[in-house]
Amino acid sequence: MSEGFASIQVQRGYVPGTPQNAVAPPIYQTTAYEFASLQDAEDIFALRKTGNLYSRSANPTQLVFEERVAALEGGRAAVAVASGQAAVAITLLALAKSGEHIVAAQQLYGGTVDLLEDTFADWGIEVSFVDQDDLDAWRAAIRPTTRALFAESVTNPTAQVLDVRAVADIAHAAGVPLVVDNTVATPYLQRPGEHGADVVVHSATKYIGGHGTSMGGVVVDIGSFDFGAEPARWPQLTGPYARVGDVVLWERFGPQGQAFAALLKSKYVHDLGPSLSPFNSFQLLQGLETLDLRMARHAASALTVAQFLQDQPGVTAVHHPGLPSNRWADAAARYLPRGVPAVFSFDLAVTGDAESDRGRVHRFVDGLRLFKLVANIGDARSLVAHPASMTHSHLDDAQLADAGISPTTVRLSIGLEDPADIIADLAQALAASDPAEGQENE
Ligand code: PLP
Repeated sequence: MSEGFASIQVQRGYVPGTPQNAVAPPIYQTTAYEFASLQDAEDIFALRKTGNLYSRSANPTQLVFEERVAALEGGRAAVAVASGQAAVAITLLALAKSGEHIVAAQQLYGGTVDLLEDTFADWGIEVSFVDQDDLDAWRAAIRPTTRALFAESVTNPTAQVLDVRAVADIAHAAGVPLVVDNTVATPYLQRPGEHGADVVVHSATKYIGGHGTSMGGVVVDIGSFDFGAEPARWPQLTGPYARVGDVVLWERFGPQGQAFAALLKSKYVHDLGPSLSPFNSFQLLQGLETLDLRMARHAASALTVAQFLQDQPGVTAVHHPGLPSNRWADAAARYLPRGVPAVFSFDLAVTGDAESDRGRVHRFVDGLRLFKLVANIGDARSLVAHPASMTHSHLDDAQLADAGISPTTVRLSIGLEDPADIIADLAQALAASDPAEGQENE
């Protein structure tokens, strides 16, 4: 019996049973699987029986990964795909079709905003964006055609903590599921399903993989939402599924809480093809095995770094909800009792002169040695980014302000290096970028 988080992350979903008896889940690098008989093939195609079919839908290494993530999130089933972006896309496509509507937090990751605002609009799916802290705005945005509410448990780069329970209650009162992107927190720091989320998505590219090597995404079906309560709303689950002999997914898989995962895999992964490769499944499994250890270290180091930064004269604000002065400190205490994620931002002091401030940001970022300047988070290495020039470069100053970002906001993703070395690097770059120092050197 292995039920604790650490035991699940190392052992769940794999029992050495191959003729070779490999103790680690092997990489099953194969596109197809030999059926035992034609009857066996018929049963698997008709969803009467589960079994390996074709690697676009799943491969055995991926299935171990899926079972492990589902257990870590406290869900009933998971569907792994090639990227976090694919995980978000197939989840929302499976819930809302053309003419229907989604309410989403305006604080979402920029790539998700592009998907919802631009590509979903092309496909006739409407999305309203609301401030995730404004509960009245969530309620007011709901329409008869709304099919999901969507937000991130902890946002990037400003580390705002979602009141998952309150937004879940609003979703359920409207008869729709709450989908939560838990990428930044991971199930070690928060399990949104325990607070009312019905579907949890991840970019596994970040902390789940954890080493900045492999793209991946995963959707967890918590199994809590009753799609059968209003069947007319969810024909994709409660009506006959013509392509598999008119099976009704809700009848076949609903009692096990896995109907939504079955829909994702049999339709959206099958039709659109965002498959996770066997090799990346293996890499993500390697990451999972140390998730708790890494997240605890990331979170502890990030808090130490945030405390250091808030005392620096060259820094005007540190956006870390582990600091008592932060607006989301209470929410963090409630939703993130094991620690606050290691992605947060801070503002360099401004002079009021845009050119001089820009020079300071460039000197600071370019002066860092241990931190790597990349468009990513959740690596073992410490990473830095400048949102106004990178992820949020298409926004003007007013839009940046709405997003809680200033031209001198710097995002950090604190890695697993020695905290003293991380702090020393920030200290030297702050000193080297100080405008007063610069003048002395001229
Ligand atoms: N969700 C969040 C919160 C992210 O930060 C990202 C990427 O940065 C994604 C989803 C998309 O994930 P991926 O880059 O794996 O497609």
